Amino acid sequence: MKNTFLLFGLPGSGKGTQAQRLAEKFGLQHISCGDLFRLHIKSNSEFGQKATTYISRGELTPDKETTMMFLEHLAQQALSNTFVIEGFPRTLPQAAAIESFITAKDGYIKQAIFLDVEVEELVKRISGRRICPICGHIYNLYYFPPQQLEICEIDGALLERRTDDKEQLVRHRLHTYLVTESPVWEYFRTKSLLTKIDAMRPIEEVSSDICQILSDSLASEVGYD
Ligand code: AMP
Repeated sequence: MKNTFLLFGLPGSGKGTQAQRLAEKFGLQHISCGDLFRLHIKSNSEFGQKATTYISRGELTPDKETTMMFLEHLAQQALSNTFVIEGFPRTLPQAAAIESFITAKDGYIKQAIFLDVEVEELVKRISGRRICPICGHIYNLYYFPPQQLEICEIDGALLERRTDDKEQLVRHRLHTYLVTESPVWEYFRTKSLLTKIDAMRPIEEVSSDICQILSDSLASEVGYD
């Protein structure tokens, strides 16, 4: 895993969307820690059952198990790939664990990108989020609502929201994350690896800035060996 890109940001900052776009544009492998949790929960694995309690309270899951689950998953991937990882690391011990994992595989963290969004904006983005359980289309009641409230325009299904997206939980979650994640951002900043992006802007503008950073970063790689 020669190159790894990390995408940081509070919930609702657009990490998932941006990581997906980067993966498509540059042929990177996208790994989302939150998505891994949701898969575990869906399959009702032992880890998933344990994680549900924390996730539904808007809390981070315990470091040790989370790190083990995440690194086990990473170890199963083709390590020759270039990765874009979001949702991990979220604590300093997780940062240390992923760094030593990557170093042991003769790789390195190429860049960490931080999507910066004000907290009040995040509350609207998250608590307004609705997902169609049938087609997976994502709406937002504030920004891009369906024509008929709570109903998917594509297939008429009743929209759902993630159990951890309820407003009172969202505020708690944002506070928890800010406290635990900011030392991680600071850690990568002091290593001159962190680039901060103003992610209050439209998705396309944010995407274009990130793509430029990755393009430059990958271009600087040519002839590196
Ligand atoms: P996300 O989809 O990234 O917002 O993650 C959903 C939930 O999974 C979070 O609210 C946490 O409870 C849990 N989670 C995801 N990534 C981590 C992590 N690196 N460490 C601890 N908990 C996590």
